[in-house]
Amino acid sequence: MKVVLFDLDDTLFAHRESVVSGITQYRRSLGGAIAAADARAAAHRWRELEEVHYHRYLSGELTFAQQRRERARLFAEEYGVLLEDHEADAWFDSYFQEYMRAWTLHDDTIACLDAIAPLRIGIITNGDLAFQLAKIERIGLAPRIENVIASGQLGYAKPDARIFEHACRVFGVPPSEAAYVGDRLQTDAIGAASAGLLGVWLDRSRAASPDELASAAASGVPVIHGLGELPAVLGLR
Ligand SMILES: [Mg+2]
Repeated sequence: MKVVLFDLDDTLFAHRESVVSGITQYRRSLGGAIAAADARAAAHRWRELEEVHYHRYLSGELTFAQQRRERARLFAEEYGVLLEDHEADAWFDSYFQEYMRAWTLHDDTIACLDAIAPLRIGIITNGDLAFQLAKIERIGLAPRIENVIASGQLGYAKPDARIFEHACRVFGVPPSEAAYVGDRLQTDAIGAASAGLLGVWLDRSRAASPDELASAAASGVPVIHGLGELPAVLGLR
């Protein structure tokens, strides 16, 4: 193995935790029903909206800006607040300040990158390149990452084999000499395995179902529960 590629959100970067903290802080700053809403339910609803509308962006149905507007509009509507487009954009921008304040790496990220240091490291992310680069810079990962490949730049997204093949070409290695580590079984690990890389599934919450474990095994995908387990999977210790 010469190259280890990572997913960014919820793999190296604590995205879910940052989203929950961001929406909780922002909600508290608002008036009325939104401020009074049950914190867990509101965080759950916000994450659900992200899941649905971010995937509409990835599939080309919405622009990056439209999915943000849609998430703000539908969240506020739940609490009886109707937002015009420009209000929804402003609402999202204010939330986003709180989200960015909460940006943080997972606790095991740096130790893992140190442990695999002889190998070349990259990121493949489904997202907007400029935005993901800004995030990588801000959370201090930039000096450790040789190349960042973002779907927004290419017109295809994980689990499409082309994005994994493209990343291997950028590094100048065959897929058999690259591993890809991510928190989504199909999108990340099985997608990478189908393109000929070693796909590794990071199941941080240990929530894998028997069916998922069987799919992982059938694709030759090792399952890890934290990044601390990665060096052993790569044969480094
Ligand atoms: Mg992810």
